[in-house]
Amino acid sequence: MLEIFTCILQALCRNLIYSLFMDVSKILDPLNSAQRAGVCHASGHALVLAGAGSGKTRVLVHRIAWLIDAENTPPFSILAVTFTNKAAAEMRSRIESLLGIPASGMWVGTFHGIAHRLLRAHWQEAELPQNFQILDSDDQLRTLKRLIREMGLDDSQWPAKEAQWYINARKDEGVRAGQITLHRGQKDDLHLLQMIEIYKQYEALCQRSGMIDFAEMLLRAKELWQKRPDVLQHYRQRFQNILVDEFQDTNSIQYEWIKLLAGETGRVFAVGDDDQSIYGWRGARIENIHQYSRDFKPVEMYRLEQNYRSTANILNAANGLIANNTDRLGKELWTEDAEGELIQVYSAFNEIDEANYIVDNIQQRINEGYQRSECAILYRSNAQSRVLEESLIMASMPYRVYGGLRFFDRQEIRDVLAYLRLMTNRNDAPAFERIINTPTRGIGNKTLEVVRTTANQQNMTLWEAVLSVIENKMLTARALSALQAFIDLINEHAEIIQNLSLNEKIEHVVHHSGLEAYYEKEKGERGRARIENMQELIQAGVNFEAEDWQTEDENMDELSAFLSHAALEAGEGQADEWDDCVQLMTLHSAKGLEFKQVYICGVEEGLFPHRLSAEDPVRLEEERRLCYVGMTRAMENLSLSYAEKRRIYGEDNYPKPSRFLKEIPQQCLHQIRASRFAQPAVSSTTSRYTETPQTDNGMNISLGQRVLHPSFGEGMVMNYEGEGRHARVQINFEEVGSKWLVMEYANLSLA
Ligand code: ATP
Ligand code: MG
Repeated sequence: MLEIFTCILQALCRNLIYSLFMDVSKILDPLNSAQRAGVCHASGHALVLAGAGSGKTRVLVHRIAWLIDAENTPPFSILAVTFTNKAAAEMRSRIESLLGIPASGMWVGTFHGIAHRLLRAHWQEAELPQNFQILDSDDQLRTLKRLIREMGLDDSQWPAKEAQWYINARKDEGVRAGQITLHRGQKDDLHLLQMIEIYKQYEALCQRSGMIDFAEMLLRAKELWQKRPDVLQHYRQRFQNILVDEFQDTNSIQYEWIKLLAGETGRVFAVGDDDQSIYGWRGARIENIHQYSRDFKPVEMYRLEQNYRSTANILNAANGLIANNTDRLGKELWTEDAEGELIQVYSAFNEIDEANYIVDNIQQRINEGYQRSECAILYRSNAQSRVLEESLIMASMPYRVYGGLRFFDRQEIRDVLAYLRLMTNRNDAPAFERIINTPTRGIGNKTLEVVRTTANQQNMTLWEAVLSVIENKMLTARALSALQAFIDLINEHAEIIQNLSLNEKIEHVVHHSGLEAYYEKEKGERGRARIENMQELIQAGVNFEAEDWQTEDENMDELSAFLSHAALEAGEGQADEWDDCVQLMTLHSAKGLEFKQVYICGVEEGLFPHRLSAEDPVRLEEERRLCYVGMTRAMENLSLSYAEKRRIYGEDNYPKPSRFLKEIPQQCLHQIRASRFAQPAVSSTTSRYTETPQTDNGMNISLGQRVLHPSFGEGMVMNYEGEGRHARVQINFEEVGSKWLVMEYANLSLA
């Protein structure tokens, strides 16, 4: 009620200002004419289809300000979908700074954030318990592992990971276990039938324990529309303006959800770029862009062609690369910006050399006046970050990893949260499993097996099963007393924390759960870091703004809001978010962002394009789009690097440079060789060289040197060992890969 009143008051103020000045220059001045056309779009739906850095997100933000200021639309009627929570926060603040006043009542968030908000407000209609908990992907995997075991299946034959993919993919298509229709050939497919059974049992288990996973959030939110026309009608009337950023990455269910919400009267304003669709592997459907024009009529199409982000060199390189894709809608992109520096292509000796080169280069940029936060290192796989982090630590350079092991994913943080979760909802099975014996309290596997079997046989939650095991004295007195102590611990402290503030609740659990004492025993830096992280969590409780999570018709308590926040905050931000540190992230999580200096590392066949995608033309095009996304994050400088030798997942590899490097117009590139930074292969057991060996023609060989072989062509010296006639050299050839050669006969010359 208060919110509606504030909205009306704000609208009146705006009207007054507007009628006094009729001035919308703040909104329109910073736009070019194509962007202005989009922002001032008159009626019906709109699609802004344009390349990277052409101002799509800017148009979306200014469109919202335009709706509020020029069209007198109440913020209350606006719903905007962004790709990350961080983008949502930025969008809101940019809109408010354009308007000069707060735009309360507007909903801005990710699909998951918005679905979650709806489900909290309508938990009854969505057939959920009021205190339902969110299963993040790690919890989901554990739950499935346990379920598969309980179903008596061999988990080597039925990996939980596969079941997780299968279930999430069906949910993303909007299909429940009971709704799967089998084609004729599938009726005898035992594997598929078993998967469906796992899906079915998993659904039942989640429902019983009051838990929903990420995919479920979207599915429930869509089903809420379908099952409750009254609720849908309410939101249809409310959200007359629906705006979606990064539209190319919506999946089926998100698309359907928007369609249902828009109904006959809602106006949809979508912005996207088919060349940046990078989530096909997770169910995103690029076809939604085509489908949109058919489903939403009339649609006015806007194209933006000027890029404002990158230098001409970077843009030409990215345009040249993406031109190799066949399945494109086709867009022109140009810039008025200067040529800029050439793109550096660094051929590193190994991954350590690559990391050192990048850190060294960042230091140079900082000396030139860049902020650390204006430099980003992007990689294809999370596993690449460790070596980079080591180099950054050695150089004492602050950095932040997005999307890696995020704060809320750290072991000790998950432990504390699990205590809080179980105190909130005793049926939360993953939380139960996590802390039943952490810290150790003498509850062994045998005891747990009895509890799990009881739960399974009697269709109970684990918590209920413990109570039943105690009541029926199903174990030894010692085991029973250990279980009872756990039950008492949770019950007693749940009671105590009830009237404490959020941070006091967290603090209480840290001190009294035994976790603090447990981790204090862990030696060295690691133990200290864990204790510091727990302190940080208490601080997060102090800073947490529960209001951000409340809606006008929602009654979520502060702790539940905090726990939801922890589960939803997908690798995005922590307390030090705005500190000046180098930014590390996967290429996927760099979407929508921009940095003055970008390093893309590991540009190698097998890593990028990923070996699982290289053979499949459709997936290869998605990898190329991912490279395009990465390159177009750079504003002033771009560096691409590959290693001649890479140790990853515990194995040595000798990859070839990525095909993407060949596809970029060569005049945009400046090749740099490893020699300046080369160093011995630190971890290699074979690099016990004695003296610099000589080739048969008297040439001295050094690590990292480029050499030429009469039949194998050009390559780089990776290693050598032995002396005199026994000297051997390992060379990574561009065409044929790694080979050991006997120096005496190798017939090498300098490349
Ligand atoms: P992406 O495809 O990567 O999401 P985008 O199309 O959403 O990019 P924006 O992020 O909105 O592009 O804009 C890219 C950069 O260009 C931003 O720094 C933005 O502030 C700037 N920009 C956009 N339009 C203009 C303009 N008309 N004048 C000056 N700068 C602009
Ligand atoms: Mg954008």
